[in-house]
Amino acid sequence: MRRTLVCSIGLLCTTLLFPAGARAQTDWPKYEAQAAELLQQYFRIDTSNPPGNEKHAAEFFCALFAKEGIECQIFEIAPGRANAYARLKGDGSKRPIILLNHTDVVNADPKLWSVPPFSAEIRDGAMYGRGAQDMKSEGMLQAMVMVALKRENVKLTRDVIFLAVADEEANTLGTEWMIKNKRELVAGAEFLINEGGENLIQSNGAVPFWGVNVAEKAPYWLRLTAHGKAGHGSVPRADSAPHRLARALARVVDYETPLHVTPLSQQIFCDMAQVQFPSEKERFCNMEASLRDEAFRKRVSENPDWAFLLRNTISLTVLKGGPQTNVIPAEAIAELDVRLLPGEEPQKFLEEIKKVVADDTIKIEPISTIRTPNESPVDTELWRAFAEVVGRYFPRTVVSPRLTSGYTESQIYRQLGIHSYGFCPFVSTREEADTPHGTDERILIKEFQGGLRVLFDVLTRVAGR
Ligand SMILES: [Zn+2]
Repeated sequence: MRRTLVCSIGLLCTTLLFPAGARAQTDWPKYEAQAAELLQQYFRIDTSNPPGNEKHAAEFFCALFAKEGIECQIFEIAPGRANAYARLKGDGSKRPIILLNHTDVVNADPKLWSVPPFSAEIRDGAMYGRGAQDMKSEGMLQAMVMVALKRENVKLTRDVIFLAVADEEANTLGTEWMIKNKRELVAGAEFLINEGGENLIQSNGAVPFWGVNVAEKAPYWLRLTAHGKAGHGSVPRADSAPHRLARALARVVDYETPLHVTPLSQQIFCDMAQVQFPSEKERFCNMEASLRDEAFRKRVSENPDWAFLLRNTISLTVLKGGPQTNVIPAEAIAELDVRLLPGEEPQKFLEEIKKVVADDTIKIEPISTIRTPNESPVDTELWRAFAEVVGRYFPRTVVSPRLTSGYTESQIYRQLGIHSYGFCPFVSTREEADTPHGTDERILIKEFQGGLRVLFDVLTRVAGR
């Protein structure tokens, strides 16, 4: 309820801040109603990946844009799989901004859901559908903002690009195809808005943080393989492959990677303390010094939601030995899900882990695409637009940078020199925010609709003349 009030204050502010031109008369209820109607159609397009079938989603967006006179291209990247690309022209005085979204969703088991996952059923004001949080709703809002910019005839300083890619959930084929085959259509952009932020609304209606992703941990998956003599399980050998691997793994899982306070993690802790435990602000705003205190270090280290912000992390996830209890296998394998902090060198970490394993008969090899972790700055025009617009609608909310433990394609676009941010234009309850990849994924229609003006205002602020 309280958010409605905040939003109506926001609406009032928008009207006051943009008194001139068509925007003051914008019929937002009409846009919001259309956005919800289109969202329902979009949810009903089954883009479960595998196999994806994202071409239907690309056609859906291009059909919408065609009706509005916005040029849109479909790029087929594989049979049945496609990206959609649309562009609104600016006067060229600033470099383009990309609105990036992915159209594929992970699979949903209908048996576990209370409604069919592609029915887009509405219950208690929430629309249910695989992709509701990750990330069909944001993709829909990006498309509606394109439509609104065009219809309202907003004069642009920079091109605004809408890019809906396939296959983000599996192999990033859509993005990689664009960069390999249509690089000129994305390279040269200054900014990119992608999935990844988090803005939780509490039961009392407050939104303490508006988290904007500026970086992600980079996956650096490793496989450890031990070889040894095969034999009968009744005659154990100290140097068998499973025994040697087990000893090495014990060292790895007990190993504490060094804590490293980066300027980004420092800011995250400081912002968090300011809102959540103001009495300890001093301590959390001086992490480097505070971590020298043993008790504080332990407290931070033992909190998994905090620790990953300060260190490269290692999770032992795969173990393979023999298929039979009475047979000593000649080979034993383990896999580690390693995530590196921005600024870390994969090769350097590999050397570090070799020392921990301390057994050079065990082969250690990377098994994921090597992605060097990177980060976007917060002193940019787009960042200031986020802060200003969010502040207008949610005056007491702290806009704070986030480092996610997961991975997003922003990492790939940053390598092209594009400042890329995970910015979610709508708020969610904790319950809804926990549904991506899970059961009963859903979004409150009112919150979804509220996101339209937030994203539109960000765009007019950063790309409007
Ligand atoms: Zn996603």
